[in-house]
Amino acid sequence: MEDGIDIVILGAGISGLVSASVLLKQGYKSIIVVDEYDHVGGNHIDCSVGEYTFDIGSFIFQDDSPLLVHLPEILPLYVPIEPTWGRLNPQGVVTQYPISIKDDLIAAGPIEWVRVLLSVAFARLFRRRLSNAKDFAQFWIGARLLHRSGLGRYMERFYGLPPEQIDIRFAEKRMLWIKEHAMIRRYIHLPRWTRGSDPRGRPNRQLARPREGFAHLYDAAIRRMKQSGVQFLLGTKLEGLSKADGRFVLQTADRQIRAQRVVSTIPLERAQELCGIALDVKLRTVTLITLFFSFSGHRGFKNSILYNFSHSGAWKRLTVYSDFYGPAAGREFFAVEVNADHVSNSAEIGAKDFRQHTMENGLFKGDLQLEGSHVVSNAYPIYTNGADERAAEIIAALRNFGVQSLGRQGAFDYQPTARDTTLKAEAALRVS
Ligand SMILES: Cc1cc2nc3c(=O)[nH]c(=O)nc-3n(C[C@H](O)[C@H](O)[C@H](O)COP(=O)(O)OP(=O)(O)OC[C@H]3O[C@@H](n4cnc5c(N)ncnc54)[C@H](O)[C@@H]3O)c2cc1C
Repeated sequence: MEDGIDIVILGAGISGLVSASVLLKQGYKSIIVVDEYDHVGGNHIDCSVGEYTFDIGSFIFQDDSPLLVHLPEILPLYVPIEPTWGRLNPQGVVTQYPISIKDDLIAAGPIEWVRVLLSVAFARLFRRRLSNAKDFAQFWIGARLLHRSGLGRYMERFYGLPPEQIDIRFAEKRMLWIKEHAMIRRYIHLPRWTRGSDPRGRPNRQLARPREGFAHLYDAAIRRMKQSGVQFLLGTKLEGLSKADGRFVLQTADRQIRAQRVVSTIPLERAQELCGIALDVKLRTVTLITLFFSFSGHRGFKNSILYNFSHSGAWKRLTVYSDFYGPAAGREFFAVEVNADHVSNSAEIGAKDFRQHTMENGLFKGDLQLEGSHVVSNAYPIYTNGADERAAEIIAALRNFGVQSLGRQGAFDYQPTARDTTLKAEAALRVS
């Protein structure tokens, strides 16, 4: 039995680490961070296969992130990178991400221009009631350009469901760039004197984790936190969370921890299960399969990050890690993200589909080897009808039990960056 603990934090991802840092600064002396994963960083996961080193997805960080206030030791360990983002459009052209006026519109010719204009006019006049992500995109760029640019098909890969089944509030939050790109003023370049000075100042630097992996990135910061009184119990199976004599009792496979307060950053349904809260509420999430490839030959694109906007092919995005870390054994290496539902939960089917599709589009001509794969459940929340309300119901039930739930998993919140996650954890724990 471990007693006299101020706070238990469930989850050692970015939300858990930032929470520990904030609570230390607020004066709490003894904090235990518990995770069923055997590493810190949560879903920041890297995998090494021989000399190749991949991430589950594409992780790009910036040197002005508020996360660095909490973990300053990590900044010198990052690898500075200069990635470019591209996209394969339905016409088989690798072009600008997320939309290219030249390749998606001008190249289509005058008949298509008229169709696109008519469809935008139609949407603005007759589709004013927006109830889902498809309505939102159609309102701004029209059904014709939505199809021609491949954005409609990409949205399905991104959301995990056809866009007509995705809540409008999520589309408004996450797809604002569609609206911004649809604004005429974006393409009008006013003289510099009319724009004033650049409020952002110096542009930020793009960074990737060190070649050695995320464990190496976080190591020094974790050591410092341990010296300040934070304990980390990793690879620890959680069995239940109850209350006795006004304290929380966390039961793990081999010990009981009694604490005054619990902050949870793990998936909502897992926290609900631990607390024995019976609620018949189901939340849907994307299970992500990441395929790891090595390659030797001619690559049909220059970008480090390439999105699949074409009408076929299940893969969503690929990231060329050899652009960041240099080739290994004379070969390039990259990771490909695929929604598990779109390939019958099978890495083999995903890999076969990827080979076929990229061969048809001339992306890889040469020797392409599958080096491995990794599956992550709960990678992204799916915002289908009323998911926000259902998540809020579980969060409220946890709050009534006394548990504060936050983070990408703990708030069922599509937090796209560690920056966003940090700011939200800080705000949630702020003492008013
Ligand atoms: C594929 C992908 C790419 C991303 N790319 C970027 C990027 O380029 N730049 C950037 O800044 N941010 C990126 N992010 C977002 C960033 O990683 C998040 O902001 C941050 O990791 C969220 O941290 P968290 O602690 O809230 O949640 P998480 O790290 O997701 O999870 C917290 C904890 O929940 C528990 N948990 C999670 N999943 C499960 C599960 N399936 N079963 C049981 N327990 C679980 C674990 O205990 C974990 O430690 C990306 C995220 C993903 C998934």
